[in-house]
Amino acid sequence: MRAHLQKLLALRDLDGAILAAERKVRILEGEVTAIERRIAAEEEDFQRRLEEHRALRHRATEKAMEADEIDEKIRTYQHKLDHDIIPYKEMEYLKEQVEFLKSRIDEVEEEAIRLMDEVEKDERRLQQERKAHEERLARLQRERSEVEEKISALRKEIQELKGRREAAIGEIPAHLRSHYERLREMYSDPVVPIVNGTCNGCHLNISQTTVDRARQGEVVTCDNCSRFLYLESAL
Ligand SMILES: [Zn+2]
Repeated sequence: MRAHLQKLLALRDLDGAILAAERKVRILEGEVTAIERRIAAEEEDFQRRLEEHRALRHRATEKAMEADEIDEKIRTYQHKLDHDIIPYKEMEYLKEQVEFLKSRIDEVEEEAIRLMDEVEKDERRLQQERKAHEERLARLQRERSEVEEKISALRKEIQELKGRREAAIGEIPAHLRSHYERLREMYSDPVVPIVNGTCNGCHLNISQTTVDRARQGEVVTCDNCSRFLYLESAL
C-alpha cells in the first residue's frame, strides 16, 4: 500500500512539473508577443522618419525646379526681347514679366539652397539614427530568439515529462488511477498531506481512523473533498 502512495506522489510531482513548465511557456510566449510588438513599433517609427526625410528632399527638389523654371522663362523672354520683332504691347508685357521674375528668382533660389542644406544636415542625422535603429532592432531580435530558445527547451522538457508520466500512471492500479484523474480535473493538488489533523486541500478535520490508516501508509482520501491524503511521517 505504501508503494501505491509513493507512486501517486511521484505522479503528482510529475503533473506539478508539467503544469509549471506549461505555465512558463505561456509567460514566455507573452514575452515573445511583447517583443514582436516592440519590433513592429521600432520599424514603424523608422519608416515614419524615412518618410519625413523623403518629404523634405521632395520639397527641396521642387524648389530647385521652380528656380530653374523661372530662370528658363527669364532667358526665353529675354531672348525674344533681344532677337525677335514683336508688337509693342507684347514687348511691354515681356519686360514686365522679366522684371517680376528677376525680383522673384533670388528668393526662390535662396530657399532652394536653404532646403538643400537642410536635406544634407538631415541626411547626416538620419545616418546616425539608422545606425541606432538597426542596433535596437538587432537587440530586440536577439532577445526574441533567446526567449524562443527557452520555449523550445521547455517544450522538450514537457514532452519528456509526459513520457515519464505515461510510464508512472501505468504502474498505478486502475481504481486509484481513475480517481486521481477525476481529482486532477478539479484540483491542481490532488494528493495532499494531513497537517495538524486537517486535509491540506480543503482544510477540514480528518477522522482519527483515517489518520491512523494514513499512518500505516494506506492510501486514504478526504471525506470532504476526496483528495488523496498522506502523512509526511508515514512516508
Ligand atoms: Zn479535503
